[in-house]
Amino acid sequence: MTVAPVRTARSSAELISAEAPVLAHNYHPLPVVVARAEGTWVEDVEGRRYLDLLAGYSALNFGHRHPALIEAAHRQLDQLTLTSRAFHNDRLAGFAEGLAELTGLDMVLPMNTGAEAVESAVKVARKWAYEVKGVPADRATIVVADGNFHGRTTTIVSFSTDESARAGFGPFTPGFRVVPYNDLAALEAAIDETTAAVLLEPIQGEAGVVIPDDGYLTGVRDLTRRAGCLFIADEIQSGLGRTGRTLAVDHESVRPDMLLLGKALGGGIVPVSAVVAGRDVLGVLRPGEHGSTFGGNPLSAAVGSAVVDLLATGEFQRRAADLGEVLRNGLEALTGKGVTGFRARGLWAGVDIDPAIGTGRRISELLLAEGVLVKDTHGSTIRLAPPLTITREELESALAALGRVLG
Ligand SMILES: *Cc1c(COP(=O)(O)O)cnc(C)c1O
Repeated sequence: MTVAPVRTARSSAELISAEAPVLAHNYHPLPVVVARAEGTWVEDVEGRRYLDLLAGYSALNFGHRHPALIEAAHRQLDQLTLTSRAFHNDRLAGFAEGLAELTGLDMVLPMNTGAEAVESAVKVARKWAYEVKGVPADRATIVVADGNFHGRTTTIVSFSTDESARAGFGPFTPGFRVVPYNDLAALEAAIDETTAAVLLEPIQGEAGVVIPDDGYLTGVRDLTRRAGCLFIADEIQSGLGRTGRTLAVDHESVRPDMLLLGKALGGGIVPVSAVVAGRDVLGVLRPGEHGSTFGGNPLSAAVGSAVVDLLATGEFQRRAADLGEVLRNGLEALTGKGVTGFRARGLWAGVDIDPAIGTGRRISELLLAEGVLVKDTHGSTIRLAPPLTITREELESALAALGRVLG
């Protein structure tokens, strides 16, 4: 069946000004109104085309509307979309089995958004601390890192160190300790007999793609094992092929006790997240203690299974690793020519721009005019995270556009 494209009667400018009075101002989007997309390309209301180098903050690792994912979603839409977990559905077992096999862990707790996966992990870690570790009631602590980003709920912003994410949203949830990222001695000092878990991003995405020293994740694994607390890796942004491996922790062959996945798990179609863990950990949850109306719904499970199938081929991890070299070489060539430094792994980079040239926002606007979509993170840093389906030519043309903007 072919469907005529949906075209709105209003121009980009009209749509942008129509949003202001009716839409909460919690974002400051670039002035582009996307109407269609395919693969690595998006098209605005006027038909202008842009190369998408943000990929929905890695929710679009397989590009826009990947044919296998769209087909899985279409097929499922015609069959069954929602049951709630009051009943079983015929898609959930396969999704959980596939995800467990992909990650090398035993059990899956399906949720929807990333923040829900983090919240779920906090609850599971606390329950594990009381029931398994024997921490006195209501005394459990979780150690987190400075510069973290784990989502936007009240509990999660309670342990954020970004003032704009916290200010005005107190009172905050107690039970968290913040230590510097990439500092094993500080982590060791913060862990005590009340520690349920250490919760970290193996690479800090929102902070500007901050990559810890080699050996840090192995050190975290050793420390937490010795201290008898859990290691929770938030791979909601770093996972599922982005860094050139299935998981960012794979670069150090580290297996966390709990793994948090989201973003790309939904194939850019539906929000799908999951806590994946050992049976000894997720097994603490019993009926009635935690849940979600939409978590594990058949549409999400069908799309999530199709995502797992794509990753099981290894093709996307390989592309990210190979094209990551092109990205790295391109950024090295720009270093000293407007780029003051960068951090990159796989198809993921945080690029620091000389503040004399412009803020990250300004560079993003200039790239928009060149037909390339990126997003600034902090101050003068921009983040590059193209779909893993990008071609070498497309990546090189985006790097050339960055060169023109900086030159
Ligand atoms: C995006 C993100 C989250 C939150 O995910 P949402 O789906 O926006 O709730 C949590 N952790 C990390 C590392 C993220 O990048």
